[in-house]
Amino acid sequence: MSESTNFFEQAPDSPEIAARFPDLHPPFNKTAALTEANRCLYCFDAPCTIACPTHIDVPRFIKKIASGNLQGSAKTILDANILGASCSRACPVDVLCEGACVMHRYNTQPIAIARLQRFAMDALHESGAPLPFLPGEDTGKSVALIGAGPASLACAAELRRRGIRAEIFDARPLPGGLNTYGIAEYKLPLAESLREIDMLAQLGVKFNFNVSVDATKLAALETTHDAVFLGVGLGAIYQLGITGEALEGVTNALDYIAAYKSGEITSAPGRVAIIGAGNTAIDAANASARLGASEVYMIYRRGPEQMSAFAFEYEHAKQEGVKFLWHVRPIGIQGTEKVKALDLARLEVTPDGSLVPITGELFQLQVDLVILAIGQATHTEFLDSGKVKLERGRIVIDRMTGQTSNPKYFAGGDCTNGGREVVDAVADGKRAGIGIAAWLEGQNANA
Ligand code: SF4
Repeated sequence: MSESTNFFEQAPDSPEIAARFPDLHPPFNKTAALTEANRCLYCFDAPCTIACPTHIDVPRFIKKIASGNLQGSAKTILDANILGASCSRACPVDVLCEGACVMHRYNTQPIAIARLQRFAMDALHESGAPLPFLPGEDTGKSVALIGAGPASLACAAELRRRGIRAEIFDARPLPGGLNTYGIAEYKLPLAESLREIDMLAQLGVKFNFNVSVDATKLAALETTHDAVFLGVGLGAIYQLGITGEALEGVTNALDYIAAYKSGEITSAPGRVAIIGAGNTAIDAANASARLGASEVYMIYRRGPEQMSAFAFEYEHAKQEGVKFLWHVRPIGIQGTEKVKALDLARLEVTPDGSLVPITGELFQLQVDLVILAIGQATHTEFLDSGKVKLERGRIVIDRMTGQTSNPKYFAGGDCTNGGREVVDAVADGKRAGIGIAAWLEGQNANA
């Protein structure tokens, strides 16, 4: 067990990866931050705040930057979103706060909210100041949180601020879930994720790593804790079900991203094919390009209009030199021990919208690495036997409180919504932390 901390010091030191993955959006310097902050109109009923799933008071934190109160600005951010630093780097702000900024109505650039948020959070981290909150007075209650990703971290912070003990269990050796292991390094470096968690851990969150929670372990935790929060995310990436998937040189996007972020791999082989067209697929494709692949292909069975990746991610991949093969499906992977080629079939869309192979339109792509990125399965098998209600493998919750069908169990994040943004997981965890505290208080009142 660890009461934290110093996760930051455990970040791998890989100068090669740092050089290949510089910041996508470099930080503001003080002058640029002040100039940008002074452009904000400090709107009443600010649409940027409404668009943020955690409802950070954007005009308030920007105004504090403009007045030089950087610690106050960071406190405003953290009060709404304890992972405000990672969200400032990883959020798809074009479709959230910055997408809602009123500046669009005036045909001018939206306020660079994310970069201002990062400016305030970086200033707090670099100042060495403690987290601007203290744990609440101990209530004697405790909650076991399964998974150390954003949802659990946000839930744990809310619990600790209310004097409830929070004990996190995770199968991996470091906290953060996708924040640490799964977000492109040019957006959120692994070390930055850990630095943020070091700060949050000051609230007295307890961490248990390398612990896989199965049905037996869960039953034990249920007896030793007053409530359980499930923030287990999603499971393995789906397989294609075609020949050759067990060959060396076939991997999945999440393992691939985690491997380069941890410095385990520092280069990509010559030709890389990514199967899928979501945001994770794009991250894997861009990583391959930056890791030195000579050619990177994204292969998708439908067209660009149907891809699930954000439009700005698509544009970014094109700038990285990624090539797209639309309306194509892999039908086999060739090689003896290592992958050598991908067999592909061209598809056409029928009037009813289904996809059918075009007769005779088969071709082969010489590749050295195949990366699967066709979505993740759920990871709730250990909850069967009716522990909580599931729908299509997802945990069903009351969206206001995070409570499941089993009153003692709460949940949030990808295991409840099928996979959304980090900020959505933080919002879920925050709501659940408040929900658990209210439920425990109600239990006390009824005792
Ligand atoms: Fe500032 Fe834009 Fe938000 Fe208005 S909508 S408060 S201008 S960031």
